[in-house]
Amino acid sequence: MREPYGFPIENIKPKAKVFSTPQGVQSKYCGITYREANSSKHTANSYLKEEKALEDKCKVIAIANQKGGVGKTTTAVNLGVALGISGKKVLLIDADPQGSLTKSCKIDNADADKLEVTLSELMAYEMTGEDKDYILINNSIKQFETVDLIPSNISLSGTETALFNCMSRESVLKRTIEPLRQKYDVILIDCMPSLGMMTINALVAADSVIIPCEPSFLSVKGLDLLLHSIAKIKRQINPGLKIDGVLMTMVDSRTVNAREITSALRDAMGNSINVFNIEIPRSVRATECPNAGESIFVHDPGGKVAEAYALLTKEVNGLERKAQVRPRSFGVR
Ligand code: ADP
Ligand code: MG
Repeated sequence: MREPYGFPIENIKPKAKVFSTPQGVQSKYCGITYREANSSKHTANSYLKEEKALEDKCKVIAIANQKGGVGKTTTAVNLGVALGISGKKVLLIDADPQGSLTKSCKIDNADADKLEVTLSELMAYEMTGEDKDYILINNSIKQFETVDLIPSNISLSGTETALFNCMSRESVLKRTIEPLRQKYDVILIDCMPSLGMMTINALVAADSVIIPCEPSFLSVKGLDLLLHSIAKIKRQINPGLKIDGVLMTMVDSRTVNAREITSALRDAMGNSINVFNIEIPRSVRATECPNAGESIFVHDPGGKVAEAYALLTKEVNGLERKAQVRPRSFGVR
């Protein structure tokens, strides 16, 4: 059978490392011996139920970096579409008033300005403190390839100002998307290039954060500030916030500078912060995607950037599985 995106995403083998796969995890579950399962049927059942509940849990990932042009939007689109291809129900949220994600998902400037319900209206409604308006939320959602999208336009810049006079202003986005958690497996929030109130809202709404970073001196230097802000949000408002990892984007492996910066970053982060094994290569084909209104999986399915985003998807899924599988002994209380 012909693959819809040119290659079977599950068949791509990681180059650097063997990541934990759903199959691997499955065999771990199935590795429960017959005796263990029978010795405490109830415990085994409730354990599996608990695992199922964990599987059903939606994960909200903020894609953040206060530096612009580092590949946040590109990562949101392509990681989102790849997660969609791998069978997850995915929602993208454009949390940048520039609306780059919205435009990358085939809603052009003029149409974006005409949209009646965007993230801005949803957040404004949430700020009024009234009961949730599910029709309004549903009306905001657009479809793009394998994902859903809550779009944004310039009106979101007014929302950021309005947040300053609002009660519990850091958690407005979290409350806005709360009902959507039941509907999706993954929600990706594409942040704006600043550490302002909108980005704080995204980091408070998120379970984890992915940090795209270009292999340039200034990008890497800027990471300190972002990591400091994340640590502060974790300490004061969102203790569950995790850093999934730093993702090197637009890597031109032919240049010595890119190689040196990437390896220095890996050394500096050590074991404390994950740097994804996969690096997204620089390619003209990726630059063409927003204009074409296509993800890389439609625009250049056989190319190196599509392959890299597919492998990133495996790493991200692997992190999720790792977090979900907690060792537990059966039948022992
Ligand atoms: P951000 O959201 O951080 O501002 P974008 O994702 O919009 O960054 O990317 C900035 C620019 O770089 C865009 O023009 C985009 O098309 C381009 N770009 C992103 N990823 C790549 C890549 N892997 N190779 C080449 N160009 C890229
Ligand atoms: Mg962007």
